[in-house]
Amino acid sequence: MAEQHTTTTKTTCPYCGVGCGVLATPLQNGTVQIEGDETHPANLGRLCSKGSALGETVDLGNRLLHPKVHGKRVSWDEAIVSVARGFSDIIAKHGPESVAFYVSGQVLTEDYYTANKLMKGFIGGANIDTNSRLCMSSAVAAYKRAFGSDTVPCSYEDIELADLVILAGSNLAWCHPVIFQRLRQAKEDRPEMKIVVIDPRKTSTCDIADLHLSVKPGTDATLFNGLLHYLKKEDYLDLEFLEAHTEGFAAAMTAAKTSAGSIPQVAAVTELQEQDIVKFYQLFASTEKVVTVYSQGINQSTSGTDKCNSIINCHLATGRIGKPGMGPFSFTGQPNAMGGREVGGLSNQLAAHMEITNPEHHDRVSRFWKADNLARENGAKAIDMFNEVASGKIKAIWIMATNPVVSLPDADKVKVALEKCELVVVSECEQFTDTTELADILLPAAAWGEKDGMVTNSERRISHQRAFLPLPGEARPDWWIITQVARKMGFEAAFPFEKPADVFREHAQLSAFENDGERDFNIGGLADISDEDYDNLVPVQWPVMENTEMGTARLFTDKRFFTPSGKARMISVEPKLPFNPTTEAYPLVLNTGRIRDQWHTMTRTGRAVRLNAHIPEPMVQIHPLDAATFELVDGALAEVSSQWGEMIVRVVVTDEQRPGSIFVPIHWSSQYASMARVDALVASVYDPVSGQPESKHTPVTIRAY
Ligand code: SF4
Repeated sequence: MAEQHTTTTKTTCPYCGVGCGVLATPLQNGTVQIEGDETHPANLGRLCSKGSALGETVDLGNRLLHPKVHGKRVSWDEAIVSVARGFSDIIAKHGPESVAFYVSGQVLTEDYYTANKLMKGFIGGANIDTNSRLCMSSAVAAYKRAFGSDTVPCSYEDIELADLVILAGSNLAWCHPVIFQRLRQAKEDRPEMKIVVIDPRKTSTCDIADLHLSVKPGTDATLFNGLLHYLKKEDYLDLEFLEAHTEGFAAAMTAAKTSAGSIPQVAAVTELQEQDIVKFYQLFASTEKVVTVYSQGINQSTSGTDKCNSIINCHLATGRIGKPGMGPFSFTGQPNAMGGREVGGLSNQLAAHMEITNPEHHDRVSRFWKADNLARENGAKAIDMFNEVASGKIKAIWIMATNPVVSLPDADKVKVALEKCELVVVSECEQFTDTTELADILLPAAAWGEKDGMVTNSERRISHQRAFLPLPGEARPDWWIITQVARKMGFEAAFPFEKPADVFREHAQLSAFENDGERDFNIGGLADISDEDYDNLVPVQWPVMENTEMGTARLFTDKRFFTPSGKARMISVEPKLPFNPTTEAYPLVLNTGRIRDQWHTMTRTGRAVRLNAHIPEPMVQIHPLDAATFELVDGALAEVSSQWGEMIVRVVVTDEQRPGSIFVPIHWSSQYASMARVDALVASVYDPVSGQPESKHTPVTIRAY
């Protein structure tokens, strides 16, 4: 007998930064029927394997359903008092810099806004950072250097309109699968469209590539500097655009020429064939409509910001920005990394893309929030935050919707730091994770399908995640939990929120407050949104001003940037090699990343049997030459180790891997096996500009286990 359907809810997928629209229909057998939403502009009805399996992940096994203090179930009132008192006491004794929040690109914009307001506005410190630091902070820093603002210029539609799509450090097929589907369809429709993949690995994305450049890990900036120099030498620059709309061109060209002034020079550094480099450069030079998509392979580097700017430089030099089918386009990993940026979720930002250390911005936010105690100094970025927990400088930390004992570099050090920390509060959906095991106070958070609020995807599109399931046990949404703690800490007047729409309206009002166009993030057109319109909001790309209520598909169409001069900045990039080179003891490069069917530390995707079937256990991909050198057999177990830690993995021998480099997925935790966390091996070195760790280049060795 067919299942009897109840109501269908339009919502948004909680996984990657594509931000697909989902139709969710709870069935009477307790599962949820999932379909792609054909009206959502991001996916137009498509879903990937993870999104289509969402209905299989809503059961309550391992759910955290009640607040707990030191392992004992307590009421919400007791839990809220314990958190508020714990934080207040430590702040009173040691100051606002002695406490921290570590949040997540998984939380909704309203949650992010509330946490940021509490920490920066009312506690008065800026130690709030997010796991998005690990995925896109280099892209943010590079946009700000180039445009004076954290502005993603493009739309997904531009990828389909382009005649050349460059995918740099992006395994689109596995990490942003629905955009890969759209790109593949566009190429089928227009076979003359060209696709270039720049990646040390031959990933599934290469299936549709006209050219795959298996670049030496860490040398992307030399490749793009070489392109910039080639464009000048071969007379392909848009001199009119450069003269009228950019600054810093001469210095950027000199840096490009010095580091990558000839094809043999580029070939020597990148270990690419000269003819492949020329083919790539000629394709870029001779194609007007070019989009360059870049992701973690570029960002996760000790020089990630420079790498992003080396890409942006090439688009500025040819005026290929702000027009259909053109532009540099960073992709975020998480569903709401962009929403986090909007509300100031990074420790060096204020809400609405303003800066803590900019006196004008500080004054404006302080007046808007009526916050006399607004933080004046940037806080600790993710890696430093946990270093400060380890050193005892930070004595209380509240972790929300993330699992840093698995996902942060040097993960064993993070674990020891939390073990020693005076107060660890964890808001989570799951009862047992590597991080919840170390919590003094556990707060049960609502999960996808149970909570309501906004997320922003990689193309700046704000979409609604809507609730369609009842709250289980005593689980509550994050914005509600933070609001209760803020009130208990004495900040009642600043936290009057009774529902997500109240938070969103304030967020929209702040974005438009004294903003006559000098700041990119502006959703003032939604500042007076009614509860009903909030409930029914259709996906829309910011800026959403009163005169652009339908949103904005493309930025910089008027060639004006958010710098004081209104011109974009070309940045002089001097390519740097990865911080830790390989050595005799650690001769291989460890590259970490996602696989197609798992998400983060598997707390949700791990529930779906069919998703676990794709790659069922931790594995290492290794080239046949390296497998022979290290006497490894396909299917056997191996121990991979670095200076920082070790793990046990299944060996997969494949010539898709570049010799000298191995790949291990990021997903498995100690909940699966005691030596399954790859981030225990990864060095906690980071880009000095963005704070983003170098998760793609850790020297390791390997041996049969
Ligand atoms: Fe979800 Fe991303 Fe898959 Fe879309 S592409 S269904 S957002 S995981």
